[in-house]
Amino acid sequence: MKPVPLHLVDHPLAHDALTTLRDKRTTPEHFRQAANRISVVLVADALRDIPTVPVTVDTPLGPADGHRMERDVVVVPVLRAGLGMLDAVLAPLADSDVLMIDPMLATGGSAVAALDLLEHAGARTVRLVCIVAAPEGVALVERHHPTVDIYTPVVDRELNAHKYIVPGLGDFGDRLYGTL
Ligand code: URA
Repeated sequence: MKPVPLHLVDHPLAHDALTTLRDKRTTPEHFRQAANRISVVLVADALRDIPTVPVTVDTPLGPADGHRMERDVVVVPVLRAGLGMLDAVLAPLADSDVLMIDPMLATGGSAVAALDLLEHAGARTVRLVCIVAAPEGVALVERHHPTVDIYTPVVDRELNAHKYIVPGLGDFGDRLYGTL
């Protein structure tokens, strides 16, 4: 079987933000800022080949050529508990590009469940954006959805017995909201 296209996003801004996210001394406020910074870089890379159409806009000094994205991009966050709600909001997906965001691709179980729903709803192209991926998660997505492109700055070593990514960055939600 052809492997999932895995795009390792190798950008200094992504690595710098990832290092801040990994550091256990990072406060929730700085964690949120770093999560924002890395997300901009990852999403920019994931949407690099999105189709655009030429347009003309007027600057204060005259007309200028520009480009607009041709279609909507639908962003689907993977929250395991949210999968029950996804069915209800899948209707406009058939003609859209989908960006699925799953910060920690650990076992891949939730990502695959979400991808199953998206596929069923007729989503045309799905790009999966992660901040840290585990080999196990990449392999599961690869097995079930071999055409999905994965964008991540890193594939870490392994999962531990509690299904956390090692070395990872801990529990993403706890670190984001300071609920440790
Ligand atoms: N979810 C997290 O927040 N961290 C992990 O390491 C794995 C899943």
